[in-house]
Amino acid sequence: MTHRYIFVVGGVMSGVGKGVTTASIGKILQSRGFNVTAIKIDPYVNVDAGTMNPVEHGEVFVTDDGDETDQDMGNYERFLDTDLTSTNYMTTGRVYQTVIEKERNLEYKGRCVQVVPHIPQEVIRRIRVAAEKAKADITMVEIGGTVGEYENILFLEAARMMHLDDPEHVLFVLVSYLPVPKHLGEMKTKPTQHATRTLNSTGIHPDFIVCRGEQYMDKPRREKLGIFCNVKPDAVISAPDVSSIYHIPALFEEQGFSSSILKKFRLKPRTSDLRKWKAMASVQESAKKTVKIGVVGKYFSTGDYTLSDSYISVIESLKHAAWANNARIEMEWINSEHFEDKSKQLSDLDAFDGILVPGGFGTRGIEGVIMTVKYCREKKIPYFGICYGMQLATVEFARNVLGKTTAHTVEVDEATKDPIIHVNPVQLKNIRENRYGGTMRLGAYDCDLKPGTIARKAYGCASISERHRHRYEFNNEYAQALEKNGMVISGVNPQTSLVEIVELKNHPFFVGVQFHPEFHSRPLHPHPLFKAFITVALK
Ligand code: GLN
Repeated sequence: MTHRYIFVVGGVMSGVGKGVTTASIGKILQSRGFNVTAIKIDPYVNVDAGTMNPVEHGEVFVTDDGDETDQDMGNYERFLDTDLTSTNYMTTGRVYQTVIEKERNLEYKGRCVQVVPHIPQEVIRRIRVAAEKAKADITMVEIGGTVGEYENILFLEAARMMHLDDPEHVLFVLVSYLPVPKHLGEMKTKPTQHATRTLNSTGIHPDFIVCRGEQYMDKPRREKLGIFCNVKPDAVISAPDVSSIYHIPALFEEQGFSSSILKKFRLKPRTSDLRKWKAMASVQESAKKTVKIGVVGKYFSTGDYTLSDSYISVIESLKHAAWANNARIEMEWINSEHFEDKSKQLSDLDAFDGILVPGGFGTRGIEGVIMTVKYCREKKIPYFGICYGMQLATVEFARNVLGKTTAHTVEVDEATKDPIIHVNPVQLKNIRENRYGGTMRLGAYDCDLKPGTIARKAYGCASISERHRHRYEFNNEYAQALEKNGMVISGVNPQTSLVEIVELKNHPFFVGVQFHPEFHSRPLHPHPLFKAFITVALK
């Protein structure tokens, strides 16, 4: 079959929403009946995102096949409502790793292996494999970073080579930023003109320019930018700030973006259907009910911006679940350390309809989380704990219900007398040998659900599969004692007997899950546990 490719590159500055733009373009093409997949290229030397600092790089998004990828992969999955795999993600480190391995195996047959062409060739091979595997009519390829950076030059080179090889099936979209300086009060096009020129110097000319900015772009600027950047005015797409990222596909469609793309690709136009999507995107503004959720954890102290990126899938899952319940959502971030130093009172949690504790690592803020769990358990505030939030819920229960006052996870207290969360021999070896990259329990594993439990009711089936990312795990030696005292083990991995879900009876909603349900939530298919949590929170 003929595969078509759309490369999305950034200009002027990073952080303007290239990932969401890529996902939205994919969405509008998909809504016209084309099979669309998406690839993220991360220029970092890291082999995967698992070893990157979440505050700097954002959330690590885990795929079913256990790859630790960039958060944009989550945007693609959510917008395209599809499961992606490690084939859809690459980093500089990963590309070089393959080329060096091939060289060691004499696969280059003794030839000199060079940065050019061998590195771009490997990039192209990966892109083609992903398109083939997805049987995609159109493959979106987002190149991380901005043009002019040394880091992504080889990826641009790969894109240029693909275009040279087959110009009719490769398009380029430049996502730029148009500032409106306060003292001028006018949208300035010059930085975008420079970005276009920089892109031109790599041998690539943009077919479309997506203009991010605070405001909608007016006609005179569209025309001016078109002339200066050598594109038609209808190839200039305005992408002003909007209240929700889910409005962006419709915003693009209003400007005829998908029709213009299809014309360039010489594909026959098909009718677009974004009705359900638009209805979902409008609930936040139209709903009469509000649900207020507090998210308690760490990573919050470096400012609001980093926070939301570290937990983006959790945040989006909460939104999907609220909207499916016809409610608008308000979320507040609570730094658990503030409960420890008493700069915040636990009673502040009363203001929320529900509390969520997301995943995390390390020791900072942990006692504050355990205090939060206790408060929610005793005051019967709906509680949803994910990964670390589940592990610490069992620690709290062991301490305060079983009376094992020093119970802990060995992640924090290696020598604890009651290692309710422990580490298996394989993981212990990884830690001792400093083998951290890609060695956690990662990706999809099965879980059987116990009849009559909150989890079983929420899912409406007996067996599920969810994505994981953790090194430590529940210690089955404590299972009996927990159950005797009222904790329900409602989900267990049938192959390994690992405890996956715990919950409480006589509580409106107290659920802890070892896995990461947030990686499976989609705007039009909210995750059953998030949905159940919000439903109870609304009561
Ligand atoms: N730190 C815990 C572990 O490694 C929990 C991980 C997480 O929350 N993602 O097991």
